[in-house]
Amino acid sequence: MAEDCIFCRIVAGDIPGRTVTETDHALAFLDANPLAPGHTLVIPKEHYSRLNDVPGDEAAELFGAVHELAATVEEAVDADAVSIGINDGEAAGQEVPHTHVHLVPRFEGDGGGP
Ligand code: ADP
Repeated sequence: MAEDCIFCRIVAGDIPGRTVTETDHALAFLDANPLAPGHTLVIPKEHYSRLNDVPGDEAAELFGAVHELAATVEEAVDADAVSIGINDGEAAGQEVPHTHVHLVPRFEGDGGGP
């Protein structure tokens, strides 16, 4: 755990997160500033800044959760599609330095995305 990391503090239960689902090594929770209803973040429970820092087995579990959640999140808010993305590194727009996958429900004609 990184003491000053907001996502580590959510994993630890020190600050509230709206959990969607969790596995041994991955946690999914609702984004606090959603781009669309149902915007979900999926993170490794361990602190890794960048995707490439995540060990292979934990990355497999992380993307296994993403694979399962893609349809679930879309259906939960009756969306038409879902955008799945990672801002991997500061220059890519990563603001929280604990690697995370965005699942953003998309609606016909919404004109936006992550
Ligand atoms: P960006 O903000 O440019 O999308 P990131 O890819 O690093 O950068 O995404 C960080 C995400 O974390 C944002 O979508 C933001 O709304 C979300 N977020 C920040 N703090 C919290 C929090 N306490 N609980 C849930 N989501 C959060």
